[in-house]
Amino acid sequence: MCKIYPPIILTSFLPCSSFVFSVGLAAQVRAIFEEKLRSRGVALHTGISVATSAEGVLRGTAAVSGTPFELPFDECVWCTQGAAQQWMRASGFDTDAGGFLKVNTHLQSTNSPDVFGGGDCIAIEGYHRPKAGVFAVMAGMPLAINLRKRLEGQKLTDEDR
Ligand SMILES: Cc1cc2nc3c(=O)[nH]c(=O)nc-3n(C[C@H](O)[C@H](O)[C@H](O)COP(=O)(O)OP(=O)(O)OC[C@H]3O[C@@H](n4cnc5c(N)ncnc54)[C@H](O)[C@@H]3O)c2cc1C
Repeated sequence: MCKIYPPIILTSFLPCSSFVFSVGLAAQVRAIFEEKLRSRGVALHTGISVATSAEGVLRGTAAVSGTPFELPFDECVWCTQGAAQQWMRASGFDTDAGGFLKVNTHLQSTNSPDVFGGGDCIAIEGYHRPKAGVFAVMAGMPLAINLRKRLEGQKLTDEDR
C-alpha cells in the first residue's frame, strides 16, 4: 500500500535590493544564473528592499518609486550581504558609505596610520572587493609584513600592497 499525496505546486521568488542580480558576478556568469532561475520558475524581483518579515509576509519598498510591496511566503531562505559593525562608524576611523574601515592599498586606515585591517571589515580605497574568504586570507601576508614595517618605523612602499 502506498499513500498518494496531492501534487505540491511550488511558487518561488527571489527579491533583491540591487538593480542587478548578484552585482559582484561577471555579466556572463550572471546571465547563466538568471537563465537557471528563469528555467526553474523562480521569479527574480530586483530593486526592491525587504524591510520586515512577519507572519509569512515580506514587506518593503521598491528602491526607486518607494512603492510598498508585500510578498507572502510559506518558507523563506534569507541570504543577505555582510554589514559593518556599528562601532566602526562611531570610532572616528574613516569608513566608507557602508560603515566599513576605509584603508589604503597598504591595508592601513586612511586617517589613522597605526591602524591596519583586512578581510570583511575593510573597504580598500579605489577598489571594490567582495566580502569573501579568499580576499581575507590573501590579506594576511601583506598585513603581517606591513604591521612589522610600521612597528620598525620603515616606510611602506609600492611593493607592500
Ligand atoms: C555562510 C557563509 C558562507 C561563506 N562561503 C564562502 C566561500 O565559499 N568562499 C569565500 O571565499 N568566502 C565565503 N564566505 C565569506 C567568508 O566567510 C568571509 O569573507 C571571511 O570569513 C572573512 O574573514 P574575516 O577574518 O575578515 O572575518 P570573520 O571570519 O567574520 O572573523 C571575524 C572574527 O571577529 C570576531 N569579532 C567580531 N566582533 C568582535 C569584537 N567586537 N571583539 C572581538 N572579536 C570580534 C568574530 O567573532 C569573528 O571570529 C562565507 C560566509 C558565510 C557567512
